[in-house]
Amino acid sequence: MSYAFGHLVGAWCAGKIYEYFSKKKISHYAWIFLLLGSLLPDGDFLLDWTLGYDTHRTFTHSFLFVLFSALVVYIIFSICKHPEKRQFALLLGSGILTHLFLDSFFGFGVPLLWPSMMHFSFSEGISYSVLEGSTFSRGNVIELGDQLRFAIVDMAIGTAWIFYLWFRKRIQF
Ligand SMILES: [Zn+2]
Repeated sequence: MSYAFGHLVGAWCAGKIYEYFSKKKISHYAWIFLLLGSLLPDGDFLLDWTLGYDTHRTFTHSFLFVLFSALVVYIIFSICKHPEKRQFALLLGSGILTHLFLDSFFGFGVPLLWPSMMHFSFSEGISYSVLEGSTFSRGNVIELGDQLRFAIVDMAIGTAWIFYLWFRKRIQF
């Protein structure tokens, strides 16, 4: 699944579960890193669109990327001497992990051990798939139908989430 709302809500639920069981609060700014992490792996779509590379679900969907991104954030906020540098790095890494977890339910799954192309999927098990390719260049009608259905489900989840936040007076329009 590569839709923003599904991943955002997934990360938000993970954050809430963490807060509930650890009895600790995730700080206002740290939340952003968790949510950002949940979107970051699909940044590779931008490369697909702009450069025409078939990069989707490779490096950015691996443990290597989790470590790399967390390290980059840690280094940046260490330079700024920010007291929350560890939390920011950990939450960004956690956000990416929630993305990889959710993606594992769809299709071939994700190449967690990239550069090995061994894909892990909850529905299809372990497979050495060839690159899935860019969904947008294939133009397969059935594929498009599926994409549309997922997009609609995604929007429904997103809308429900926003209404919940509004109901709890967490956001104001
Ligand atoms: Zn993804």
